[in-house]
Amino acid sequence: AAKSRKRHWKIYSEDLNKNALEHLAIANKLQNAIDKQQFQLFYQPIIKASNNSIHGAEVLLRWKQADGSYIPPDTFIPIAEQSTLIHDITCWVIKQAIEDLAILDKQGFTGCLHINLSAKDLHNNMLLTCLDKIAAKVTPQRIIFEVTESAMMTDIKQATKVMVELVNSGFAFSLDDFGTGFSSFPLLRDLPIEQIKIDRSFVINMASHEANQSIVRSIIFLAKSLNCTVVAEGVEDNTSIGLLQVMGCHYLQGYFFSRPVSLEQYQQLLDALPPA
Ligand code: C2E
Ligand code: CA
Ligand code: CA
Repeated sequence: AAKSRKRHWKIYSEDLNKNALEHLAIANKLQNAIDKQQFQLFYQPIIKASNNSIHGAEVLLRWKQADGSYIPPDTFIPIAEQSTLIHDITCWVIKQAIEDLAILDKQGFTGCLHINLSAKDLHNNMLLTCLDKIAAKVTPQRIIFEVTESAMMTDIKQATKVMVELVNSGFAFSLDDFGTGFSSFPLLRDLPIEQIKIDRSFVINMASHEANQSIVRSIIFLAKSLNCTVVAEGVEDNTSIGLLQVMGCHYLQGYFFSRPVSLEQYQQLLDALPPA
């Protein structure tokens, strides 16, 4: 037994080294990604459940590599969060999204853009400073910030302060990945949240999963009781759409309608499916 334990440890530590090295390599490359213009914004339509029109879009960050491949945000955002780099990235995303919004508006787009914030963005005044600098270019009513519970929990006092200030300026907040955290109810009660996004893990298989159907139904009921709108993300099939419509879900997002696409492709979607 001792022998096999030793062997396991060896495999484990090699894995660990490999991960640590990969992590370091990404952290180094990430430093220059903004300057080298390697970031690109993708857009995924958010659909109005009542008439299947395009209501808005979620802005999703992509990091393009020299060989044309992409490193997914789930991989590099957590690394960026370990330094102040995340603030530069968030600020870049906001600026770029606002420039893109001006382009979409010329096409008659009137919807909102949903921008993801990272946990650390609410823990200091960086976001307020960033938005102050570009205040002249932004219509706050067109921007919804998506935040997760964990983003707010580390320093709830500071997070509340930033959120309240932004809501007073006209921005809105959506509570992302709802149902996966531990502290949703006090946050919903105490914070200025306008919208709930049901985590995709409950939605993806809801057509064949009774428990997930009950959870989704309950979240929609809760959201409505709190005067919040609801987005179901991870909508992949027609049966789920029917169920979500009957449940009174306001907005739908998922591969069934469209994967996240480039700005140019999103413009084509708008042309094909004009916003209501
Ligand atoms: P998220 O905020 O939950 O974003 C939704 C993710 O679900 C996206 O992955 C999207 O491509 C994926 N998705 C959408 N519809 C479906 C579907 O029908 N089925 C399935 N299986 N997946 C679907 P993506 O773009 O890889 O982003 C992953 C995460 O990275 C995001 O999760 C968000 O937490 C983070 N992220 C992305 N962009 C940004 C950003 O600009 N800033 C920050 N801080 N985080 C970001
Ligand atoms: Ca999101
Ligand atoms: Ca989400």
